[in-house]
Amino acid sequence: HKPLRSAEGATPAIAQWFVAKAAHPDALIFFRMGDFFEMLFEDAEVASAALDIALSSRGEHQGEKVKLCGVPAQAVDVYLARLIRQGFRVAICDQTETPEEQKRRKAPTIRREVTRLVTPGTVTEEALLEASRSAWLLALAPVDNRLGAAWLDVTTGAFATESLAPEDLPALLARLEPAEILAPEDFARTSTLLPLAERTAHLGVPRDGTRRLAEAFDVATLEGFGSFSPEEIAAAAMAVDYVKLTQVGAMPRLSPPVPSGGRGVLQMDGATRRSLEILRSERGDPRHALLGAVDRTVTPAGARELAARLASPLADQAPIAARHDAVAFLLAAETVRQGLRAALKGAPDMARALARLSLDRFAPRDLGAIREGLARAEAMQAALDAAAGVPPVPALVSGARAALRPADSPRAELQRALADPLPARLDDGGLVAAGYDGELDALRRLRDGAREAIAALQMDLAQAWGVASLKIRHHQQFGFLAEVPSAAGEKLLREGMKEGPQAPVHRQTMANAMRFTCTALADLDRRVAEAGEQAGKRERVIAQHLRRLCLAAAAGIAAAASAMAELDVHAAAAELAADGRWCRPDMTDRGDFAVAAARHPVVEAALARARGPAFVPNDCDLSAGRRLCLLTGPNMAGKSTFLRQNALLVILAQAGMFVPADSARIGLTDRLFSRVGAADDIAGGRSTFMVEMAETAAILNQATARSLVVLDEVGRGTATWDGLAIAWAVLEALHDRIRCRTIFATHFHELTALAGKLPELAPSTMQVREWRGEVVFEHRVGPGAAERSWGVHVARLAGVPKPVLTRAQEVLKALEARARGLDPLSEELPLFARAAPPPAAPPEHPALAELAALDADSLSPREALDILYRLKSLL
Ligand code: ADP
Repeated sequence: HKPLRSAEGATPAIAQWFVAKAAHPDALIFFRMGDFFEMLFEDAEVASAALDIALSSRGEHQGEKVKLCGVPAQAVDVYLARLIRQGFRVAICDQTETPEEQKRRKAPTIRREVTRLVTPGTVTEEALLEASRSAWLLALAPVDNRLGAAWLDVTTGAFATESLAPEDLPALLARLEPAEILAPEDFARTSTLLPLAERTAHLGVPRDGTRRLAEAFDVATLEGFGSFSPEEIAAAAMAVDYVKLTQVGAMPRLSPPVPSGGRGVLQMDGATRRSLEILRSERGDPRHALLGAVDRTVTPAGARELAARLASPLADQAPIAARHDAVAFLLAAETVRQGLRAALKGAPDMARALARLSLDRFAPRDLGAIREGLARAEAMQAALDAAAGVPPVPALVSGARAALRPADSPRAELQRALADPLPARLDDGGLVAAGYDGELDALRRLRDGAREAIAALQMDLAQAWGVASLKIRHHQQFGFLAEVPSAAGEKLLREGMKEGPQAPVHRQTMANAMRFTCTALADLDRRVAEAGEQAGKRERVIAQHLRRLCLAAAAGIAAAASAMAELDVHAAAAELAADGRWCRPDMTDRGDFAVAAARHPVVEAALARARGPAFVPNDCDLSAGRRLCLLTGPNMAGKSTFLRQNALLVILAQAGMFVPADSARIGLTDRLFSRVGAADDIAGGRSTFMVEMAETAAILNQATARSLVVLDEVGRGTATWDGLAIAWAVLEALHDRIRCRTIFATHFHELTALAGKLPELAPSTMQVREWRGEVVFEHRVGPGAAERSWGVHVARLAGVPKPVLTRAQEVLKALEARARGLDPLSEELPLFARAAPPPAAPPEHPALAELAALDADSLSPREALDILYRLKSLL
């Protein structure tokens, strides 16, 4: 709740705060007061907790102490970064006039205005951005029963839209991982599909979206950009409006929106992405995620592009093949590849520098980034030309080559204009190289001449004042002053000359020195200051000229930047393929999936780092006739690794990369489902079983014959018969109705009996053997089903005493004999006749139920023993 408080009776400054807060109620107000940004009232409480800084209070407003906390303006970026990362929005309410201007206006307080809104999805400052991640701003516009989505990245200008069914929203969120979401307030509040409430800003759906977009892109009609649905237009207009709002009028350079950004993309839901650890791992170690294991890019922009490709692999043959062509070319042309990578290494991030330039919020290094980036682009072009005439250059590579040199490249001009090295800030001076601008050079000469005169004056004054140790120093506030030891200073005060240009005038007394000036020194000081000021002004004029030059060429520079990122990704994929046994996947339009000697890139890399046993490659064939692989095997045998590795192969292949296998024939996949690993949703308050069933339902409702499904242990979360029944029915549905390629890992060995009944089902098992009394997991997938008696086996290896084991064998035999009568797979039971009604619950012997529910692999010897005794007591 917010206490009712008004601006009534406020001091002039506090009144300004109320104006800012009313305009931006969702944001923390950073209120400039001298050298600090202060937060007031509730903002102060929130910010002091979020930033861990002291909360104090000052003065009163309407009988209440004004709470307040502040951060130094010098270091404001550090604090902004921390707030942005926590999902806050900040409105910067800055002083927009100088104290002199205020005096001239005779105003009671200095003018303050919100100069910009800093939000997670609209920041451009280097310090607030992650170099290798895109910061998407996602706008959602519910129109009728569709949902318009538009996402843009202000730091690169990328902009796309899509129209979706509301239930597809979670998958889109999982794919983009937006930094910030915009949605109408009622939708944000009521939709169960939008879990990131705290990242959501409220914005209504505009009615005149078309007009607003046309205005923003300065076109008469949007038709040139493609065809958009009304909800896409609405969402795109929301996104553009919001960006305008946050930049307070200034508009970053945006590419025209690309409609239906989602078409032609491999669909994966959030559970699949988490399970496959595509961009990041559950534990957070980037090396344990697919991206970390396969990323050989050398620039942050390349890393962002690779992440985008892995998050949104393609689903159409031609664009995938085009990427594979590019990788194959760069794999074969080793010198070209190395030349490109050498030119790319350390190349600046032109796209983001361009965004800061377009918002007029740039530092000298942003101009430097364009100069250096364009030079690197030209070097890349030269590297590519070294391949002339060798193999035919594929379309993506030649297209990128052409983009590397923008027609109106400002490189030569920047090269002449910019100093090297560049100053950190514009105000520091020294941005422009000597010899570029005559006027600036003259001003600098004036300034430097006066400096020299000052150096000469030091000697004159030392003589005239009779103080040999006199030093002229520059003082931030007082300019140039002559400093003498205290004793000499006292003497000057008493006996110094009283008139003339060199007569000492006292300025400052310090512990053991005094500072003086004189008319001659003051004159020179003024000349230095004035010339310096003029030079600074001139530099700013030149900086603006250079900025406009870059903006005039913005489209070309942006295209060069994305060509660099693309070539980085292609060269990196080739580099990866050159490193080891990777191959170009043969993509087909049929339901193929046949890979030979495939590996899991993350596990393989981890094993290599540990210098332990090498990764064991595995084949997998889900071609017609054996579309459904039923995988059994004990824990730790490598089932999950096998499941995930085959799913990852699809992602890599369709992202346009080569794959870690000796050969791979992969039919294009429209949707990928992976359910491997813990499915706990403790935060969501649903039981493991509930989550598991919800995720299974999603597969059964959405998978098509062109999908690939990897499923681990369906039904493990409930009682044995229940679980078996569900796993059974799911398997049948996948086999008969959906007919997708599937790998289905299970601990229900009973299911392997289905092999005879489901023609496409191919039972496979993780091979395990015993060697000198030890269990050896071979990590190799072979045909057939796992042995049943594994638990007793493990119990023996774990040191359970022999008599107990013998007895356990007897019990097991007896139980198996009894169980046979209840075998759900025996032909007599109605379960086998598939269309038949479900069987009555089988009468279970309690010992049998307990034994069946047992996960033998996870037992300690002690537990095994306890269970044996209990089983015996049940007989
Ligand atoms: P499961 O799912 O059957 O319990 P995992 O797939 O989790 O087994 O694998 C267990 C461990 O075995 C992994 O952490 C990995 O170190 C190792 N492993 C799995 N597959 C292979 C393989 N193909 N080659 C070598 N080691 C493997």
